[in-house]
Amino acid sequence: MSAPLPHPSDARPVTLLHTDVLIVGGGAAGVATAITAARRGCAVTLVEKYGFCGGGAVAGLSGTLCGLYEAAEGDAPPRQLVHGFVDEFVAALERRQGLTEPLRYGKTYTRVHDPLVWREVADALLREAGVRILYHALVTEVIREGERTLGAQVYTKQGKLRILAPVTVDASGDADLIAMAGLPDTIGDHGRVQNPTMIFKLSGVDVARFSRTYGADTIMPPAVSAMIAEANGQGYRLPRSKIWLFPTPRPDELLCNCTRVTGADGRELNPLNYQDFTEAELEGRLQVREYARFFKAYIAGCEASWVNDTAPQVGVRQTRQLVGRDTLSNAAILAGRKSADGIARSPWPIELHSGERPKVEWLLNDFYEIPLGCFIPRQGEGLLAAGRCLSAEHEAVASARVTAQCFSYGHALGHAAALMAREGLDAGDLQGSAIRALLNRDGARLD
Ligand SMILES: Cc1cc2nc3c(=O)[nH]c(=O)nc-3n(C[C@H](O)[C@H](O)[C@H](O)COP(=O)(O)OP(=O)(O)OC[C@H]3O[C@@H](n4cnc5c(N)ncnc54)[C@H](O)[C@@H]3O)c2cc1C
Repeated sequence: MSAPLPHPSDARPVTLLHTDVLIVGGGAAGVATAITAARRGCAVTLVEKYGFCGGGAVAGLSGTLCGLYEAAEGDAPPRQLVHGFVDEFVAALERRQGLTEPLRYGKTYTRVHDPLVWREVADALLREAGVRILYHALVTEVIREGERTLGAQVYTKQGKLRILAPVTVDASGDADLIAMAGLPDTIGDHGRVQNPTMIFKLSGVDVARFSRTYGADTIMPPAVSAMIAEANGQGYRLPRSKIWLFPTPRPDELLCNCTRVTGADGRELNPLNYQDFTEAELEGRLQVREYARFFKAYIAGCEASWVNDTAPQVGVRQTRQLVGRDTLSNAAILAGRKSADGIARSPWPIELHSGERPKVEWLLNDFYEIPLGCFIPRQGEGLLAAGRCLSAEHEAVASARVTAQCFSYGHALGHAAALMAREGLDAGDLQGSAIRALLNRDGARLD
């Protein structure tokens, strides 16, 4: 018989904090939720494991603000369809020279942000709204009484914090709190998630020459894919041939979204698995050097280029989704479905990163709406979700996860959390149509 395992212990005292709304995660969704709820008069606490906000957009260096513009055939100019909190964030990035003009991305447009400026804008807006920010604070457990979530326990260097709140919002991207609470979740396509990508910045680029050679589209043309195939024949190891390169707001710089991080045996890595997540970081950094070597040797304008930095962490597209009152289906996206309780809209294509080449399925001259119920767990009370962990089918996540939409979800969920914290509503009482009216009042232009 094996000896019983010793119990872990931490002799430091536990600190108790109270707040109206507790938000876990400072990505686009968490930031928008926190600011919206605070502006509605709630005492808001935002807990973030890093020392800065931005999540996938900054720590993962996803780097571009997708999901704002309509997709169309031909050379139509950018037509913005998504408004609300995101407009404010965009304006703040612009004021600090932290955002490019819209750049062509296939049949639509995107805008590239400076990750440092993103962090500064988030800090400034959160502080202005009076949000209590706890950086370097990792949620390790939820506090529950029966079916009701009462808050969360947080690990900090000072010791544990127990934060109690009538409403907790899981904006962790990974539905961490949903899983901790034992609520149902789904993971990708029978457990297979989209592959991670290690994004990096290439400096010393002659961007004008680069753009003259390959055109204005940030999705690289077939000629570049052909050069990648050729290089692979010359001993390079470049697993992804369809790549995206974006000029940034900084001079002489490209943001490179080109790696395809899989396991040594070729399997899809799932960042929910601690070994896979580690392997993704190690493999991601190796691939960055290989792509950078290729750019220097093959790509016009990159002859004197050098890797400025990689993302602080490998970019995680997909992990867990909650099981919500509603679920966004693939069919709803392809049909451009709208609904009276839609709290956000998206014109973004299904952009699925699995297999050798990312697959893009466009939604032309149209958009779909995401119902509030995708953020309300089917069971339990006191816990909502915001951001890419929404209740959605596998391919649907590949569209609904981008940054402009995550800002929209946060905007909506901030109102929802405030209604629960200030007016005593239960999650089951929340009406998408009522939140939609509040969003329209804030300039979301959903109608
Ligand atoms: C490789 C890649 C490329 C992408 N490209 C684009 C693109 O070009 N344009 C675009 O618009 N979108 C892109 N995306 C998608 C986009 O970046 C993300 O989906 C979006 O940022 C998600 O926002 P979020 O707020 O839902 O979650 P996240 O940004 O994931 O934020 C979650 C936050 O929660 C924190 N957190 C997690 N768990 C805990 C915990 N237990 N305790 C405390 N804090 C916690 C994390 O540190 C993080 O800051 C890309 C994503 C990836 C991975």
